[in-house]
Parts: sequence; C-alpha cells; structure tokens
Amino acid sequence: MKIISEAEKNTAGIQQLINENSLFNQAKVLKAFREEKISDDYFHSTEGYGYGDEGREKLETLFARVFRGEKALVRPHFVSGTHTLYTSLRGLLRPGDRLVSVTGEPYDTLSRALRGSKKEEGGTLAEWNISFQCIEENDFKQPDKESKIKAILQEPTRVIYIQRSRGYTYFRKSLTIEDLDELIKKIRSMNTQAVIMVDNCYGEFVQKKEPLEVGADIIAGSLIKNPGGGITPTGGYIVGNARLISSISCAASAPGLGKDLGAFVHNKRPYFQGLFHAPHLVGEALKGAVLIADSLEMAGYEVDPPANKNRGDIVQAVRLKNREELEAFCQAVQSCSPVNSFVTPVAGVTAGYKDPILMAAGTFVQGSSSEFSADGPLREPWVVYIQGGLSYQHVLLGLSNILKKIL
Ligand SMILES: *Cc1c(COP(=O)(O)O)cnc(C)c1O
Repeated sequence: MKIISEAEKNTAGIQQLINENSLFNQAKVLKAFREEKISDDYFHSTEGYGYGDEGREKLETLFARVFRGEKALVRPHFVSGTHTLYTSLRGLLRPGDRLVSVTGEPYDTLSRALRGSKKEEGGTLAEWNISFQCIEENDFKQPDKESKIKAILQEPTRVIYIQRSRGYTYFRKSLTIEDLDELIKKIRSMNTQAVIMVDNCYGEFVQKKEPLEVGADIIAGSLIKNPGGGITPTGGYIVGNARLISSISCAASAPGLGKDLGAFVHNKRPYFQGLFHAPHLVGEALKGAVLIADSLEMAGYEVDPPANKNRGDIVQAVRLKNREELEAFCQAVQSCSPVNSFVTPVAGVTAGYKDPILMAAGTFVQGSSSEFSADGPLREPWVVYIQGGLSYQHVLLGLSNILKKIL
C-alpha cells in the first residue's frame, strides 16, 4: 500500500532509534542472565508449597537486576496486572493511612478497590479506612496550583501513586522516563516520607531506564504485557525496595509466609525466555505503533502520540469518527490475527471496566496485549487503543487491513 510505504520512509529515522533502544535493552537483559548464571536446571516445575524453588528465586533476582530493584516478586499466581497493583497497595497501606494518585484516576480495573464504598465487600480502601485522593499530573505544570498540590502532598501520606501509561483516558499523556524523573523530583521536594509506587504496565523496555532508576520505590506490572515478551503465559511482577517487597509478599501470601512459598506447577522456561525476548518484542511493537501513527495521520485521523514524539509506552491511540469506524477498526485487527480470525468482536461488559469495551485480540495468550491487539470503550471521543505485535511484519499486515476497511 502506498500510504504504508510512504509512512515507512517518513519514519525511518525513528525506527532506527527504536532499534538502538532494543539493542541497549537486549544487552542489559543478556548481561543480567549471564551475571545470574542462568542454567536450564532452573526451568523445571515444582509442586506443593514450592519451598526451596531455586528457579523461582533465580527468576526473581533476575527481574530485580534487570529493573534495578533490590528484590522482586514474579509469580504465575498473580491473575493480572491489577492483581499486582492491588496486592502492592494492600502490602503497603494500613488502616488510617492515606493514598494519593498524582496521575489522576488510576486505571479502570482499580476503581472498585480505590473508589468502592465502605459497605462494599472485598476490601475496598474505604472499608479499610484508607483515604484516597487524586491530583492531575498536569496540575504540576501550573504555577497557580502549586500551593494546592503542596498542601495535599505535605499531609502525612503513605503511598504516592503514579500511572505511567495513559489507560483509557485520551486526554492524558503517557509519562516518559524523563517526565517521571521530573515528577518524582517535584514530589520528593514536597514529601520525603511517602513510598512512590509506579504502575509500570506497558512501559517496560520502552526506554533505556526504568522507573526505579529515577527514584520510584516500587513498580508493578503484568507478564502478559511487555516483560513477558509474548511468551510468558500468565502472571505479574513487583520489583523494588527489599523491605517493601517483604511487606507486599506477606499481602500476596500471608504474614509469616512472605515470598518463600509458591510452586510453579509448569515449566519455568517461558518466564525466563519471555523476559529475554521482551526487549525485541517491545521494539517490534513500537515500530508498529509509529507506522500506524504516521499512516493514520496521513489518512486524516488524529493520533496520539504522533509518530515522531518520544514514547513512554507501547500504546497508540487513534481518534475515530464514530462507533461504526471503531467497530470496523477492531474487526480489521481481529480478522488479521493468527488466532480466532473468524470471530467478530462485540462490545461487552468486562470485569473491572466502567463502559462496555470492544476488544480485538486474536492472540495466542488469552487477552495478551503485547500481541497485536486493539480495544476501545464504546463512548465518545471514539478512541481506539492499539498496541503490541509479536512482529513488525504482522503489524504492517494488520495496518493494511485496517486502512482497507476504514478508508
Ligand atoms: C493493563 C493495565 C493495567 C492492568 O490491567 P490487567 O488487565 O489487570 O492486567 C493497569 N494499568 C495500566 C495502565 C494498564 O495498561
């Protein structure tokens, strides 16, 4: 397609920078594997309590090394990214504590936990008597809001929460590492005590540094997104300060048990291999996102970020004109997928999301959005979020199908 070859020419320089970034991160990950002396002896499965699982311990020291933390929790028992985020909060917060988000309302799937009422069961913050307040990240850039922000952050606060990726909010930007660095410095100038926690979903390996290197204390994310490399079948990770990981481990299992238990009933090879493959996968996904951005912009659509903008995550947002286009877009992605290509995605209510969401994910690992996938809530401004790609070539083929279907 002419528009795609045009876009490939326009973005050649950016693609080159993405290749350099992947090379840097691949070298970082390979170095960690060598330093940890990973051997295939670590891949075997364990049962029962999983005491003394050396492979699990190796996997966790490997994650800690790659993400520059002291300790890590990397488990198939985490059902999703949300589970790692909620477990981190449960481990860090106690009754009477205060949580402040500085990037607005956190991701949809956390809203019950953070915003649910006192009467709701299941452990909402209100039920635990933990208060929660939000500041918009943009407010930090407005001088007239500084005293208001200071007043909020200088009150005793246990956890300050940052979401790196935009989630389903079109008008919020994803944070690059440089943005995170600046934001954390500002927070620290107002509050030196709070734990700074970053929802790192979709951000891993997008840049050369990770949030713990610019002052975060805890990061958490999903293994069926970036750090699973499209290979890891399920699970999540949490990395950071040793004392904090120890509290969080007790919330994940039970006080007194911590991280010493937890069997990997399946072979651990895909957990190691997924991490090894992740820098390459992220590179393919980013190159795909840039190609989509440039092509669709040429086709007259508003895209965010634009092709030439620095990225903090792998997600590409495209603003479509109406519901029909959103449906056609997702249909085009689905029908160009290796798995379930014959299925028509219909908007459905998904656990944890406020509005019905249309999701196209013809993926090998169910729901894995590190594979080529698209989704969007059925509401104005009709934005579709598209991300992932096991290979750049697959994204290119998908894009050509999208252009055919919506133009
Ligand atoms: C994906 C995601 C999550 C967690 O989602 P799960 O579907 O529970 O894995 C949280 N925050 C952001 C920004 C995400 O992109």
